[in-house]
Amino acid sequence: MATTVTLQDSMTREPREVAPIDGETYRFYCCGPTVYGVAHIGNFRTFVVQDTFRRVLECAGIATKHVRNVTDVDDKTIRESQAQGQSLRDFTTHWKDKFNNDCVSLNMLKPHIEPGAVDHIDHQIRMIEVLIEKGNAYEKEGSVYFSVKSYPDYGRLSRVADRELRLGAAQTANDSDEYDKDSLADFVLWKGRKPEDGDNYWPSPWGEGRPGWHLECSAMSLEYLGETFDMHSGGVDLMFPHHENEIAQSECCSGSTFVHHWFHITHLLVDGGKMAKSSGNFYTLVDLEEKGYTAEEMRYVFLSGHYRHHLNFTLDSLLASRQAISRLSRFEKALAERAEISEAPAYDAARQIGEAGPFQPAFKALCRDLNTPDALGKIFTAIKSIDTETLAQATAAKLYQQYHFVLAALGLKLVTKDDAAEDIPEDIKAMAEERWQARAAKEWAESDRLRDALAEVGWLVQDGKEDYTVTRK
Ligand SMILES: [Zn+2]
Repeated sequence: MATTVTLQDSMTREPREVAPIDGETYRFYCCGPTVYGVAHIGNFRTFVVQDTFRRVLECAGIATKHVRNVTDVDDKTIRESQAQGQSLRDFTTHWKDKFNNDCVSLNMLKPHIEPGAVDHIDHQIRMIEVLIEKGNAYEKEGSVYFSVKSYPDYGRLSRVADRELRLGAAQTANDSDEYDKDSLADFVLWKGRKPEDGDNYWPSPWGEGRPGWHLECSAMSLEYLGETFDMHSGGVDLMFPHHENEIAQSECCSGSTFVHHWFHITHLLVDGGKMAKSSGNFYTLVDLEEKGYTAEEMRYVFLSGHYRHHLNFTLDSLLASRQAISRLSRFEKALAERAEISEAPAYDAARQIGEAGPFQPAFKALCRDLNTPDALGKIFTAIKSIDTETLAQATAAKLYQQYHFVLAALGLKLVTKDDAAEDIPEDIKAMAEERWQARAAKEWAESDRLRDALAEVGWLVQDGKEDYTVTRK
């Protein structure tokens, strides 16, 4: 189905049509989590919005290639792993597993590629070599810095240029991964080894050390999506300096346009304020599940706000979501009964229907700058106009498919708590146990493989400290 999809471009500040450069596959890169602790619901707002965007594209008939990296080496991961007395790999694997469990709970599609920075050190070194050769980077005492003044276009995404660059070229070199957002500095590409890095260093032409955080996304997007690709996305806080730095490195290295479309997602507020551990309003998905809420209720809250506006999260908003999901679910059950259908279609089957019937206004809202709250409103309007009791079986069957098409675009499964409380088949239990043993033996690849195999057949494994649970996705 050829539906036009438009989305605001943060670079031009205007809505633009979303269409693959190569006419075939829309290639997009999302800055992923830094795996040094549990991700909070503010992090997940961004990832759920990106997931919904991908679903809308695929429902609109556009093939995608979705890359989301894992930051598994930076100041924070090194500092925290040392504090825990764990190897960097063991430490980040633990938090990566937790993150992946939450993604499955939130019904997020798995990105096609999830590269980790530690596995791409050589790619990063090669980029630095090119940047030095071209005069965009310089070595200083075993570290290498990007020279901001060597790239006159620096700052055009965040328009930092208007604020600060006029004052003159960058004065200082900064080797912190997350430097003060108001300082305009030559940023670090390679950090010379320091005693506090412990065992976390790699050889390079400039001596032992490790890459700076900003470089990893440039290196991995180049590797998996090419010099120029369709879209880059992240939370609005990444616009400066992270994305500015990525643009500078990538464009100087390749001499080509880095990205065609920039997609930024606004912050989540909690109880009207910024989420902070010190304010006691810091929530993770597991916190909310322990309070009796479901991940789907959380996903619904994310969808209830437009991604370009602040979304104010409260526990009451989860209760409102519960009621909304219950209404959507009752309609689904009534339709299924009328249509004599016993099992809901999986995502791929649902989206391939390619039509939304009376839910077309809702789907159109999604295609217009990803207006999820408008889409939800239009679904309820459509539901109100349909009397399921009077539908013929064939009509109900068609409506059922069209309804699931728009639910697939939103990533809603309408699973109620009762549906989840069921017996676990013996073969699933055996696989989950095998995975737990592999994990205990630190056979990460095998443990990942089994988790993915379980997810494929619809089961979610969640690891606790001493044990794990298996639930239907
Ligand atoms: Zn990034």
